[in-house]
Amino acid sequence: MTVNSCDEFAYVRDNLARIEQEIQDACAAAGRRREEVTLMAVTKTVDAARINTAIAAGVTHIGENRVQEFLEKRDGLCLDGVQAHLIGHLQTNKVRRIVGQVDMIQSVDSERLARAIATAAADTERGYADVLVEVNIGNEESKSGVPVGELLPLLETIGGISGIRVRGLMAIPPILQTEAEKRAVFHQMYKLFIDIQGKNMDNITMEILSMGMSMDYVEAIREGSTMVRIGSAIFGKRDYH
Ligand SMILES: *Cc1c(COP(=O)(O)O)cnc(C)c1O
Repeated sequence: MTVNSCDEFAYVRDNLARIEQEIQDACAAAGRRREEVTLMAVTKTVDAARINTAIAAGVTHIGENRVQEFLEKRDGLCLDGVQAHLIGHLQTNKVRRIVGQVDMIQSVDSERLARAIATAAADTERGYADVLVEVNIGNEESKSGVPVGELLPLLETIGGISGIRVRGLMAIPPILQTEAEKRAVFHQMYKLFIDIQGKNMDNITMEILSMGMSMDYVEAIREGSTMVRIGSAIFGKRDYH
């Protein structure tokens, strides 16, 4: 290895060690077991070599935003034993290219998208696709995700489609300032998650509550997140060029 790649490895490894400690502390503070929370490394704009350093340092889940970027990088990734999820907005015309290539799609927010995924999944070896439904918890105009008021009807519809299985919920909350504000929004997500869990809907299980990013993963874990999606705190500031 060159000096440069050793530095890079140490940088990613040290960030992961610090985050791991924070996750453990947040779990302890919430009376939760560490195993209840999965750390996903969000790898958009990060090159394959750098992603592989994170995998070598113990990362077991990666999240990519864009279909094309993931497919281009994938051959260079050491994904043995690692799950890859699509976490970014998915257009229906790209569905065929990604279904069967990732372990989960976290960004389902419409019946139309769910039907396209189910149709594509029917042609794969497994015959179905695992997904999360993305909730627009802040009801923000600009954001993708289903509005809170439309979540239950959408789940009922998707529950009736074969070829797709909802395994939980995903959310990107609004940018909030105080710890109390962040926790209130995450708590609202957790309540939805638990309420739906109690309904025992067809084809819907609530195992994964994907919420919490670099700036708010501690608060998310305190409020019940089972998967935190962390990018910049692991890899540094993103370079979009
Ligand atoms: C980029 C991204 C993240 C990670 O964001 P950071 O603030 O860098 O941790 C998490 N989830 C989604 C959907 C993202 O697009």
